[in-house]
Amino acid sequence: MGKMLNYCNEEVMFEGCPGCSYANHNFKLPCGIAYENENFILSQDWELPIQGFMIVSPKKHVEKLEEFTTLERNELFDIINKTISILRNHKICSHFNVVFAEKENRHSHVWIMPRHSWMKDITNNIIEGIAPIFEYAKSYLRTKENYKKINETIQIVRSEYEVDTLFEMAKLTAKYADKSITGDFGDIIYFSVNQAFQKPKVKFYGGTKETSYIDKSPSLLFDENGAGKVELKSWMNKENCPNAFDSNYIQIVQEFVNRQLPLLLLIWFRKLDETEVLEYFNGKVAYGCLLQTIKISRKIKNELLLCKNNQELHRFCIKYKLYSF
Ligand SMILES: [Zn+2]
Repeated sequence: MGKMLNYCNEEVMFEGCPGCSYANHNFKLPCGIAYENENFILSQDWELPIQGFMIVSPKKHVEKLEEFTTLERNELFDIINKTISILRNHKICSHFNVVFAEKENRHSHVWIMPRHSWMKDITNNIIEGIAPIFEYAKSYLRTKENYKKINETIQIVRSEYEVDTLFEMAKLTAKYADKSITGDFGDIIYFSVNQAFQKPKVKFYGGTKETSYIDKSPSLLFDENGAGKVELKSWMNKENCPNAFDSNYIQIVQEFVNRQLPLLLLIWFRKLDETEVLEYFNGKVAYGCLLQTIKISRKIKNELLLCKNNQELHRFCIKYKLYSF
């Protein structure tokens, strides 16, 4: 049995690896979890009573950064980025350090460390003076007032994540889409990441919880000629992935892909940022403004901006061979 003192000075017992134990919900913090998905848990630092000091803990036992898949690493950085912007926007702190320490035989996690002004009274260098800052926090910040601040901060982060859980980066949900722009597309579309030797694809919601994440969802392949066939993972079947076996549902996704073909291909070939396209699908950015963000040479930009719709854009992209690296 392992033992530690949590940030509220309470003894916490755990078995085996503390990171794995936390991932399995075998111990809890008084302020609860700020955000959790299939791969990560975001929470207050377990031991340090510092407001806004958060950790992103991977659920799998990871010692080194390269043990993450590309998707996991992207997701990790999205969580770090989003958490910092929430904390900054809510004026918890203006600047942060992000630390990923690879310790031998230890379950690693990322620290999101606020650079509070009081830390400067303890040390001139927050990285070198980290131990005295931690000692100070453990000695002087274990107060009811501070626990309340920590609770409030976690509550803020939690509610911001709840708003956005349905609409993460690179994920288009029916709930937020402007259907006059997107048309119908089922429930959720993920813009898939361009990987070497793979064909362009989008991923779509399989219809069950186990197929609701980007790396566990079925794909629809497409190319310059439009939507092609569904690509399944070996374990998928009618029970655990019903949408991928429903011809009506697939037709809806195919129609979405055909309608948005140039945008999806430009995302795939990294000429267009997926977040810009999501804003457009959300009805927040006009078509003309979206075209402005396409990464092409200045010589042909004026001609690009004459495109009024996706059909014209598609012809333009074919003419200038934009669907390739
Ligand atoms: Zn572990």
